[in-house]
Amino acid sequence: VIDVVGLRKSFGSNEVLKGIDLSVNAGEVISLIGPSGSGKSTILRCLNRLEDPTSGTVRVAGFDLTDPKVDINEVRRHVGMVFQHFNLFPNMSVIENVMLAPVETKKRSKDEARKQALALLERVGLKEKADARPSQLSGGQKQRVAIARALAMEPGIMLFDEATSALDPEMVGEVLEVIRELAQTGITMVLVTHEMGFAREVCDRVVFMADGVVCEEGAPEQVFGNPQTPRLQEFLSKVL
Ligand code: ATP
Ligand code: MG
Repeated sequence: VIDVVGLRKSFGSNEVLKGIDLSVNAGEVISLIGPSGSGKSTILRCLNRLEDPTSGTVRVAGFDLTDPKVDINEVRRHVGMVFQHFNLFPNMSVIENVMLAPVETKKRSKDEARKQALALLERVGLKEKADARPSQLSGGQKQRVAIARALAMEPGIMLFDEATSALDPEMVGEVLEVIRELAQTGITMVLVTHEMGFAREVCDRVVFMADGVVCEEGAPEQVFGNPQTPRLQEFLSKVL
């Protein structure tokens, strides 16, 4: 469902992605790891056209994102994204945040959208907060609402960019738990994460990026247990 070939991306004279090849199969859960500044967020942003690639091809959910004629709103219906900062709409209640996109872009009736939103809030353990404002929630609760909101579009692919790194430590677990459950539903996921233990446990495959290229990839046991390249060995010695 995701097929990236020879992806390059420059910001001015700074070439951040230097020819990325990455394929993700339907239902696969992969994590992208690597040093700060190695281009992990830039890759995710290229997967839903928050960034335009400089060159290369990016195919996602059957769409060619490098085709200028592609309908990006249609693409984003298939690709949900959760960010480090939750970006909830502060002037709407929790349930309105979750209902908004289905009503606006899927032409769902409000009744139907509300029913679905309540079911999603129940799934992330926040049904009782449906009528609260985002400002009344903890960080972990906000992030769980953000996940419910992304799921409301029923995407086949979910992208997570350090979904837990802005959270206080005691709230990381509850968000990882929601992501873990999601990973078991057969949805395709790409996770950028600094939670190496979580990546090891939940992901089918780990992709290590360094210096703008995919440096090493493989099953978690392989990547964490038997790293082949000095670059990955060095990285793991710092983060594990
Ligand atoms: P981190 O782990 O710190 O989040 P990352 O691997 O996600 O890092 P990116 O955010 O993809 O790294 O950034 C890669 C490089 O691209 C950095 O050098 C960054 O300064 C640069 N960069 C990212 N976005 C922009 C932008 N909009 N304009 C200019 N430079 C950018
Ligand atoms: Mg990043």
